[in-house]
Amino acid sequence: MEPGGGVSMRYRRLGCSNIIVSELCLGVLTIGPLQKNLLLEEGAGVIAYALERGITFLDTAEAYKTYKYIKEALVMTGLKPVIASKSYAYTGRAMKISVEKALDEMGLSNLDIFLLHEQENEQTLRGHEEALRYLLKAREKGMIKAVGLSTHTIAGVRAGSRRREIEIIHPLINIQGLGIIDGTRDQMLAAIKEACQKGKGLYAMKAFGGGNLVRQAYEAFQFINHNPDIHSTAIGMKNRAEIDLNIAWSQGRRCVELEAEIGSQNKKLLIEDWCHGCGSCVEACHQEALSIIGEKVYIEEDKCILCGYCSQYCVDFCIKII
Ligand code: SF4
Ligand code: SF4
Repeated sequence: MEPGGGVSMRYRRLGCSNIIVSELCLGVLTIGPLQKNLLLEEGAGVIAYALERGITFLDTAEAYKTYKYIKEALVMTGLKPVIASKSYAYTGRAMKISVEKALDEMGLSNLDIFLLHEQENEQTLRGHEEALRYLLKAREKGMIKAVGLSTHTIAGVRAGSRRREIEIIHPLINIQGLGIIDGTRDQMLAAIKEACQKGKGLYAMKAFGGGNLVRQAYEAFQFINHNPDIHSTAIGMKNRAEIDLNIAWSQGRRCVELEAEIGSQNKKLLIEDWCHGCGSCVEACHQEALSIIGEKVYIEEDKCILCGYCSQYCVDFCIKII
């Protein structure tokens, strides 16, 4: 029986892999300490609700610190979704630690997808060769089913496309092309098409430009959802209303009340007053949205995609998405 008790969710194969996923993927970053920082039970409850409504695909990363929520949700539901995680590790040894940590903290014996986190181009990928080799060995041993990369760049998608061993690509793409570091939306779509034709499994990130496309959210959702080259879309959802709305949209239904409620909850990046301008977060932002002016960090809001990655570089906990 379909998980979700009759809810009609479409499922697709991720490229030439043997992995079948729901076309809607729950991005777990949103509920964790880099963003909403929900209590364990509350966050696990959100994931459990998504799984029970037919979402069978979860996207996380070591950096998101959300494994505990997933473990709890799996215990709560007894369901076995497809889980993708990622790591910035570039040595074999560090990647081994990352994979073992993911398995251990989520209580799993194997993981469906493991990605090299934020690969920019061919050179970055070469710099992660050792880590990639470890992932391939882990795949041979059955610890991982598929290996891939996530990227905010067209060059990253192209680099992944050229490598036979890379089965899954998780690119940044949205209707306005917000956050694509090295080109336009249409250039990214062309790279995605090429990757799809080579049999790569593609699941998109930042369909709403990190919350910046809230005024055209429905169109932004459909733009990605109707792209035949994209097999699933990871969307950060932090409560049941957002899950209900995204499921409705994936079925082509509008929900006026939910849209009004969620549309009024604009997110933004907050820098606390106690920022002392050390600059550690500035280099972490690949969107070049942060700079130091005087003794404080300054955000260029039109460049920020609200990924929350910078917050983990601030040891003084000055950065929050609210
Ligand atoms: S400023 Fe922070 S939240 Fe915004 S894009 Fe940069 S890393 Fe992401
Ligand atoms: S790391 Fe923290 S203290 Fe340093 S500049 Fe960034 S926000 Fe400010």
